[in-house]
Amino acid sequence: MKDPKDRLESLRAEIERRNPAQPEFHQAVREVLESLAPVFAARPEYAVPGLLERITEPERQIIFRVPWQDDHGTVHVNRGYRVEFNSALGPYKGGLRFHPSVDIGVVKFLGFEQIFKNALTGLGIGGGKGGSDFDPRGRSDAEVMRFCQSFMTELQRHIGEHTDVPAGDIGVGGREIGYLFGQYRRITNRWEAGVLTGKGTGWGGSQIRPQATGYGSVLFAAEMLRHRGLGLDGRSAVVSGSGNVALYTIEKLQQLGAYPITCSDSQGYVVDEKGIDLDLLRQIKEVERGRVSDYAARRGSAARFVPGGRVWEVAAEVAFPSATQNELGADDARALIAGGVKAVSEGANMPTTPEAVRLFQEAGVAFGPGKAANAGGVAVSALEMSQNASRSSWSAQRVEEELAGIMRDIHTVCQETAERYGAPGDYVVGANIAGFERVADAMLAQGVI
Ligand code: GLU
Repeated sequence: MKDPKDRLESLRAEIERRNPAQPEFHQAVREVLESLAPVFAARPEYAVPGLLERITEPERQIIFRVPWQDDHGTVHVNRGYRVEFNSALGPYKGGLRFHPSVDIGVVKFLGFEQIFKNALTGLGIGGGKGGSDFDPRGRSDAEVMRFCQSFMTELQRHIGEHTDVPAGDIGVGGREIGYLFGQYRRITNRWEAGVLTGKGTGWGGSQIRPQATGYGSVLFAAEMLRHRGLGLDGRSAVVSGSGNVALYTIEKLQQLGAYPITCSDSQGYVVDEKGIDLDLLRQIKEVERGRVSDYAARRGSAARFVPGGRVWEVAAEVAFPSATQNELGADDARALIAGGVKAVSEGANMPTTPEAVRLFQEAGVAFGPGKAANAGGVAVSALEMSQNASRSSWSAQRVEEELAGIMRDIHTVCQETAERYGAPGDYVVGANIAGFERVADAMLAQGVI
């Protein structure tokens, strides 16, 4: 048999050739394939021809026109996407992202990551992702509603509680899920609560879903530190972003006695030496849909807005990249390491560049990759699907306990798998291999389909 490394390398080259101009997808695939060489050597059953070729090719890719009218009557045309990547473990599951950077390569990278992340939750969900290049920023509520309705008018024929279950991501929160669900219900004439997750708690949503990604990312960091005999209590923290993931990362850090001192958006970042005032930040971001510069202006002398800067220039003991892909590069990693960072937990998907990941690992920093660290969001989405299927509604306490248990289990499986393959402490290898094994076992059992 060909050397596993050579085989993985030629597969990677072939994938890049067949999927041109999709750099984020290439990056995500490369990172997983690089982790798999030891598995292929140890478990020849996974080296069967065609398995990896199938895992890296989406089962279905849907691209559609989304026409909508703005408040002045002008017609706009955006592009909508849904990539149904892998359903070996359950219905396709993954969010929708509305952001001008969305294209098919971005959706494929996110869908690919989602396969392994969802497998790590152990909750029977396949991987998918979708979205649009629509930019919600500056759009009125009525415009967002019309866009969501048009988007769902096409998407509804492809989704369903047993088929494909979208949720939120960047640019898609509770408001958008409401408009999407309303249009789905109207067109299909079905009260099918399990078709979308992230719904309002009064109409089929789960307690703790909005908090879950951020809470989970902090719990994962706490587990990594605990494993090294350390804790979060009293530690300074840098958090990037100011969306849902960042807000609830800050909240959980504060609950556990840590000091988050930053947040950011595309215009720059805020550093608040007194610790972020969560009520003020929430008022500005969730109620007024404003910018973090407004936070600094209203917080007074404690806070400083740094236009165009990155939070990683602020020294802290734990770091939570919670904004978007490739937001933390090699120079940022060097700055964080020089500042004494002990753990990095990815709240966003692939926020750390491969070189930065390598630098953290070489410096002995505990690094939690998004597939593991931010799996709490989709895990609680799966719990929402369970509640919908049984027409029940769990207490916040119950959901939070389940979430904590799931994050602990994910940490354990990543850590044990890394050890089993001779890479103790390497959560990237652990997450990629543990996720891969679960998906691969199901695919092999289900035949060549
Ligand atoms: N967008 C989130 C993620 O990246 C959540 C997906 C979901 O709840 O389906 O995992």
